[in-house]
Amino acid sequence: MTPEDRLAERVRRDLELLSYPEREWLAPRSTREGQPILDVLIVGAGQSGLSAAFGLMRERIRNLLVVDQNPLDRAGPWLSFARMRTLRTPKYLTGPDLGIPSLTPRSWYESVHGEGSWEKLGLIPKETWAEYLSFYRRTLGIPVSPETRVGALGYDPAERAWRVPLERAGNTELAFARRVVLATGIEGSGNWHVPEWLSKALPPERYAHTRHDIDFARLRGRRVAVLGAGASAFDNAATALEQGAREVRLYFRRKTLVNVNAYRWAEFVGFLKHLGDLGDAEKWRFISQILRMGQLPPADTFRRASEHPGFHLHPGSAWKSLRMDGDRIAIETEGGRHEADFVIVGTGFVTDLKLRPELEAIEPQIARWADRYTPPRAERHDDLGRHPYLGPNFEFTERTPGEAPYLSTLYNYTFGGLLSLGFGGASISGMKYSNPRLVHGITGSLFREDCEEHYQSLCAFAAEEF
Ligand SMILES: Cc1cc2nc3c(=O)[nH]c(=O)nc-3n(C[C@H](O)[C@H](O)[C@H](O)COP(=O)(O)OP(=O)(O)OC[C@H]3O[C@@H](n4cnc5c(N)ncnc54)[C@H](O)[C@@H]3O)c2cc1C
Repeated sequence: MTPEDRLAERVRRDLELLSYPEREWLAPRSTREGQPILDVLIVGAGQSGLSAAFGLMRERIRNLLVVDQNPLDRAGPWLSFARMRTLRTPKYLTGPDLGIPSLTPRSWYESVHGEGSWEKLGLIPKETWAEYLSFYRRTLGIPVSPETRVGALGYDPAERAWRVPLERAGNTELAFARRVVLATGIEGSGNWHVPEWLSKALPPERYAHTRHDIDFARLRGRRVAVLGAGASAFDNAATALEQGAREVRLYFRRKTLVNVNAYRWAEFVGFLKHLGDLGDAEKWRFISQILRMGQLPPADTFRRASEHPGFHLHPGSAWKSLRMDGDRIAIETEGGRHEADFVIVGTGFVTDLKLRPELEAIEPQIARWADRYTPPRAERHDDLGRHPYLGPNFEFTERTPGEAPYLSTLYNYTFGGLLSLGFGGASISGMKYSNPRLVHGITGSLFREDCEEHYQSLCAFAAEEF
C-alpha cells in the first residue's frame, strides 16, 4: 500500500467518524417515461465542481453527477493553458478539504513527498495541484463523466427538473436533474475576450489569447508584443522568452505596474464569509475598489519574465492603433510606434451570460446587477453591471418576478458570483466559505420542495422504541 493509499484510508475513516446523520432523505425520482432524475448535476469537474459534489455527498446527496468536457482529471487550466510554474496563491490556503485535515493539500503533499517536504515547498506547482484534485476525486468516489459537454439547459415544469443535453462522442443524450450547479470556471459567466478592434486589425495567425493554444516554437527568434499586465500576460511573456523569442514587449495602460494584491487583503473571515450579507451599495463599493486596485503578477512570475534581457515593460502605453504593415505588426502607443511579429492578448475574460452555451435558452430571464442596482456615476463599471444578481446561495434570480421561478434551482458557482457573494466560485481563496453557502442553499431548496413528503413520512413514522 502506498503512502497515498494509506492517506485515502485515513480520509475515509475520518468521514466515517463524522457521518452523522446517516439517514438517506431524498427519495429517488423518475420522469414520466421512467428515466431516473438526478438530484444534482454539476457542470465542471474542476476544484469548484468536485468540492461542491463532496459538500453535497456529505449531506447525503449522492444521486449526483459531475460532468466535464475535458478528459478525466484534466479539468480547468492547470494542465492545458496555464503557463505559470506554480499556483499564484500561497500554499497554506485550504478549501476543497471542507475542514477535513487529512484531506488538505498539505496532508496529501506530505503523504506523497514525505515528512518535512511541505516546509521545503514554496508555492504549489500547477501539475501538483492537478494531482491533488485527482487524489481528491478518487478518494471521495466523486462520480465524474469526462469528455461530456453540457448544451443549452431547459426547465421542464411537468417533471420539476432541468433537461440537460449531454454531448458525448458525437451523440447527445438528455439527462434530468432537480438542481444544476454551474461550476464552469473563472470565465463561466462570460468568456475569454479578444478586443474586437484587435481581431479586426490582425489576421488570426498573428495573434492569440492567453487562453488559446500557442505554438511557442514558432515564436523562436521573433518579436512578441503582449497586451495586458496580469499574471497570465507575464506567464506567456516568460514562456515565449524561454522558448527563444528574440524580444517580448509587454504593454499596459496604467502608469505603473500594480504591486499591491487586493486579493491578499481579502483573505480574512469577515470578507470571505460575509461580503454576501452586505447591502448592494456596499458590495458594489468593495468589489469595484478591488477591481480598481488591479491585478498583478506574483513576485516570482514578475522575476521569471524580467530576468530575460529581451523583456521590456511599457507602462502608460495604451494601444492607439494597430495594423499590418507589410509582414510586420505596427503598434501605435501613447509612448510611440513599435513593431512586432506576433501579439499575445492578455486581456482576460468578460462577464456576459449571453456568451454561455448552457444559458442560451434562459439568459434573457436572468437578473443582472444592472437590473437591480444603479451605482453612483463615479463607480460606474459595465462589466460589474453584467454580473448575475445572485441569491444568497449562488442561485440565479429572475429578471421579472414570476416569469422564471425555476431559476432559483440553478446555481452559478463561477467567478460571476464575485459581486453578489465575493470570492465564491473559481477561486481557492474563497472556497472555505463559499462551498457551505452553496451546499446550504441546495439542501434547503430540496427539503422545502419535498416538505409535504417529509411531513407525511413523519405522520407515518411508527418505529417502536421497545
Ligand atoms: C491561468 C490561471 C491560473 C490561476 N491560478 C490560480 C491560483 O493560483 N490560485 C487561485 O486561487 N486561483 C487561480 N485561478 C483562478 C481559479 O482558481 C481557477 O480558474 C480554477 O481553475 C477555478 O476552478 P473551477 O473548478 O471553478 O473551474 P475550472 O477549473 O476552470 O473547471 C471548470 C471546468 O468546467 C468545464 N466546462 C465549462 N463549461 C462546460 C460545459 N458546458 N460542459 C462541460 N464542461 C464544461 C471546463 O472545461 C473546465 O474543465 C487561476 C485561473 C487561471 C485561468
